[in-house]
Order: sequence, then structure tokens, then C-alpha cells
Amino acid sequence: MQELFIKKPFTFDSTFLPNREKFKQNKVSTMRFEDYHITFEIKKNLSKLGFVKPTDIQFKSIPPILKGEDVLAIAQTGTGKTAAFAIPIIDKLHQQKNLRRNDGIKCLVLVPTRELAQQIGDVFEKLSRHTRVKTFTLFGGVEQNTQIARLEESLDILIATPGRMFDLISQGYIKLDRINTLVLDEADHMLDLGFIKDILDIKRKLPKKHQTLFFSATINEKIKKLAYSLVENAIRIQISPKDPVARNVNHSVAFIKMDDKRFFLERLITENPESKILVFVRTKVRAERVFKAMERVNITSVTIHSDKDQKDRFSVMSQFRSGEVKVLVATDVSARGIDIPNVEYVVNYDLPEQSENYVHRVGRTGRGKEKGFAVTFCSDEEKPILKEIETFMGKEITVMDIEKNDYHDTLDFTEDADGNWKALINDNEAFLKKQKKPFKGKRRK
Ligand code: AMP
Repeated sequence: MQELFIKKPFTFDSTFLPNREKFKQNKVSTMRFEDYHITFEIKKNLSKLGFVKPTDIQFKSIPPILKGEDVLAIAQTGTGKTAAFAIPIIDKLHQQKNLRRNDGIKCLVLVPTRELAQQIGDVFEKLSRHTRVKTFTLFGGVEQNTQIARLEESLDILIATPGRMFDLISQGYIKLDRINTLVLDEADHMLDLGFIKDILDIKRKLPKKHQTLFFSATINEKIKKLAYSLVENAIRIQISPKDPVARNVNHSVAFIKMDDKRFFLERLITENPESKILVFVRTKVRAERVFKAMERVNITSVTIHSDKDQKDRFSVMSQFRSGEVKVLVATDVSARGIDIPNVEYVVNYDLPEQSENYVHRVGRTGRGKEKGFAVTFCSDEEKPILKEIETFMGKEITVMDIEKNDYHDTLDFTEDADGNWKALINDNEAFLKKQKKPFKGKRRK
């Protein structure tokens, strides 16, 4: 049996390269961070992180943010957008002569999920080391007393998910009257999760004069309306608008029956034992089913979805991040925006309900300079969604040629003895044969 999913020598998938003209327009910076007029400590922190040159979004966002302009940026994760706002925010606060701790929070960064809050908090923490700026990350699902204690200490930047933040505002532990910068990250996701009314409420409570930085991975009429209700005379920045998908990702789709998907996943994992593989499913029940199916064939995986408590979620993420476990099965909401190094494969085990989510999913691989592979398992009933995704991206996804023999080989390949699927298939075929009229011609094997 030939290897089906084994990595081919990587070639750029030309269909996903950005339009050359557009690429030229997006002037790529030749500047280095050492050339910027920013705090020395931040430069040192950047260099420790290995960041030498700004990414496109950083090159375009840092100057206007430093000037105090509102910014409306369309850029997905993987573009370096976190540092694009973190660098100028920390710099401005550090340089503020009258920065006084007991003044309260000066910058609020609102993000949709706990994982994202932790990840962004981590970037702020690393970039603000040895500066005068103090940051703190707040999210739900964990005990609140230690958070309250921390909020009562001096603090300049708060990174938070809306739920816990509103709780603590209503209990009087968070004051908004000194905030002069509001960042909305993954604003499109905030909209999906129904946080928008809360955000508008927050906005009303801030001092009249403040800077708003609005970041969204995707743009549509709804997002536009929201953005314009929040920013004023904003500088607009858009990174690869028609090519939202990371450029160094090789995309393919395999047509696989719904019930056979687990065998193909098993095969993909077995053929790539060293690779980190992120598997997306539609629901938490499906996530647990895939986990069990893999367990039956002795493949270790972990799952992340909204039914898991926060401790579990963090522990799963850290196991996957470190590579201790190589397969993570996730739902869309739980994995949105997370940045995990070296994910080589994103598997769309189920197609996403919304075509935009394809972009978020595959954005987990091919980050920075890494190469990534996005493999979609598409059943007959999912073909209309595939069409929508292709329309959304304006590109067709390369179809993997799986020959009939190879398809059957994959079913033979499994060690899933418990499932006794072969017996089921045989039974089923026997049943169908009985129902059919006697076949007169030669039957193909
Ligand atoms: P983000 O889009 O903020 O999630 O960042 C995506 C990845 O790019 C993260 O792993 C960052 O550590 C990395 N990154 C961000 N800015 C730079 C830079 N200027 N140079 C190299 N890597 C970067």
C-alpha cells in the first residue's frame, strides 16, 4: 500500500499564493526593530523572542498606534498581530512620565476566549519585562479571589475575556475611568459569541477621549458596521484581504464517507508519527468520539471543547504545545485564535459550519515561516459546504486522488478490532445484495 498522507516535498500551492500585484502593493518592510524609536527594554525583549524585523501588520500598525490614532485592522492570527498592538501600547505607557500605578488600568484588551487571553497575556508579559508596565490576564473558569487580589495591586494593562470581566466590574473590582486604550481582538469572533452589546456598554463607560484598536480576522457587512460604530477616523489596515489563508499552507481535500473518516485519520497519524496534528470536529460529542476511536487503535490524543473545565483545557494545551501529545481534537470555538508552534497538519475531520471558520482552522498551521498541510475530509453530505468554502476563498482546493483500492486499503489498515466494522460492511453488503434483483452480467470484484 502506498503512503497516502505522507508529506510530499513541500511545494507552494500556487493557487494560494497572493495575487502578485497586491503583494507588491503591500510593501514589505526592510526595517528592523532596532531602527524603531521604541523603549530599549522592549527592543531587548523582542530580540530575546527572536523577532528581528516587523511583520507586515506590525510595520503598518505600530506607527499609527504610537501616534494615538484609532486603527481598524483586518488580519488573522499568524500574522504577528498581537505584537502589532502590544509593542506600541507598552512603549507608550513606559514612556508616560506621569505613569502612576494607583491610577488604575490604562489599557483594556478584550478577547473572545480564555486560551486566547492567556496567549495574548503571555506576549504582553514577555514584551513588557523590565519596563515600568504591569500587565494582568483575567478569564473565567478559575477561582476569582486571587484575581481580585491581583486587581487590587497596581496594574496598567488588563487582558480579559468579557464574562469574568463583567462579573468583576459589577462587583466593583475593576474601574474603567482611566482607560485610554481599548483593544478588541478577534472582534468577528466576539460578534459570533454575542458579546457585542457588552462591548458597546463598556465603550460608553470609558473616558470620552480614548484610542480604539479594532482587530478582526475576517470582514463582512456586520463587522464593518460594528467597527465603524466603535472607531473614529481610523487608520485602516488590511493584510492580504482576498487571501486570508496563510500562504505557506498546502490545501487538499479527500472525499471520504462520514463513517470511514476515523480510519483515514488513523492512517494520517500513523504515516506521520512525528507530526503535530490538530483535528477539527463540529461538536464536543464528535470530539470525544474521535478521541475514543483513536484510543481503540492505540493512538494517544487529547480533546478540547467547552465541556472541559479550565484546568483540563490548560493542561491539554500545554501537552500539545510541548509535543508530549501529538494529536489534539478540537471544536472551532475552543481552538480559535490559539497559537501553537509546529502544527504540521490541520485536519478538517468535519467541515466547519461557517466557511469563515475554515480560514481560522487552517491558520493554525503554516505559521510564520513554517510549512503546513491542511487536509479536509469531505463526505457527500458536506460537499455543499466545501463549495461555500471555495467561494469564500475564491479558490478551489486540490482534490486528493484516492483510488478505490487505496480507499479499501485504508479500511484494511486499521487496527480497530472492537468496531468490527468489516463484519458490519459485509453484513450490509449481503443485505443489499439480497434486496437487488439477480445480477445477470459479470460482477466486478
Ligand atoms: P500572532 O498573529 O500574534 O498570533 O503571531 C503569530 C506568531 O508569529 C507567533 O508565534 C509570534 O511569536 C510570531 N511573531 C510575531 N511577530 C514576529 C516577528 N516580528 N518576527 C518573527 N516572529 C513573529
